[in-house]
Amino acid sequence: MTVDAKNNPEDDYICPHCNQPLIHCNTPPFHVGDGLGWGAETFYICLNDDCSLFVRGWDYIETQYGHVGSYRYMRITGSKEGTPMFVGSPDAFTGCIIDSESQQEDDERFKQEKAAVKALDTCVGERNLAPILHLLLDEASVLGARERACDLLIEMNDLGVIDPIRNHTFRNTSIEQRVNMAITKILHASHKKECPFCLEIIKAHAVVCKHCGRELKAIPT
Ligand SMILES: [Zn+2]
Ligand SMILES: [Zn+2]
Repeated sequence: MTVDAKNNPEDDYICPHCNQPLIHCNTPPFHVGDGLGWGAETFYICLNDDCSLFVRGWDYIETQYGHVGSYRYMRITGSKEGTPMFVGSPDAFTGCIIDSESQQEDDERFKQEKAAVKALDTCVGERNLAPILHLLLDEASVLGARERACDLLIEMNDLGVIDPIRNHTFRNTSIEQRVNMAITKILHASHKKECPFCLEIIKAHAVVCKHCGRELKAIPT
C-alpha cells in the first residue's frame, strides 16, 4: 500500500515488529473493547502485510480462538506504548487513513470560512462583498452563515454580486432559492432586470435589450 510521506510526521512512530513507519489514521466511530473509548482523535497503525506480528497472527488466532483474524501493531496518538490490535481482515482500518493533503486543504477551507463568518458582522458598513460571496459560493460552509449572507446580500444592494452568483452552480436548493430572491430584490431596488435571453442586467423599463437586441415587450417585469 502507498501512503504519502507526510502522513507520518513523527519519526518514532515505527512498528517494533517490522521497523516500518506506522500509518496515521482517524479513529473510527466504534470503540475498542467494551465501552472503552479511543481517547484520541487519531492513532497510528502498522498496515504492512509482511509485518511479522500480522503474518503470525492468523495462525495464532486460529489456534487460540478458532476465529479468522490477526493482529496489527497500533499506537494511540500521544501514547508512549503501542499494542497489538485484533483485525478481522487485511483491509481493516485502511479506510481510516488520513490523507494529509486533503486534510490540509480542509483545514485551510475551514479557516477561510471562519474568517468570512466573522467579517459578516462588519462587511455591510465596510461595503465589503468578499465575505458574503465567499460563504455563498463555498458549498461546504455552514448553512446558517450562508443564509445570513443571503440576507446581507439584500442589505448591500450591490448589482456587482449578480455575475459571480450566476456563474455558480448551487448544490443546496434552499440557498439557491434564497439567493435568487435576494437578486430579484436587488434588481428591483435598482430599477433593473435581467434580460431573459442574454441575462445581462438592463433597465426595468427597457423594451429592447441593449446587449442582445431582442425585444422584451411581451415579458412582464
Ligand atoms: Zn509492523
Ligand atoms: Zn439581452
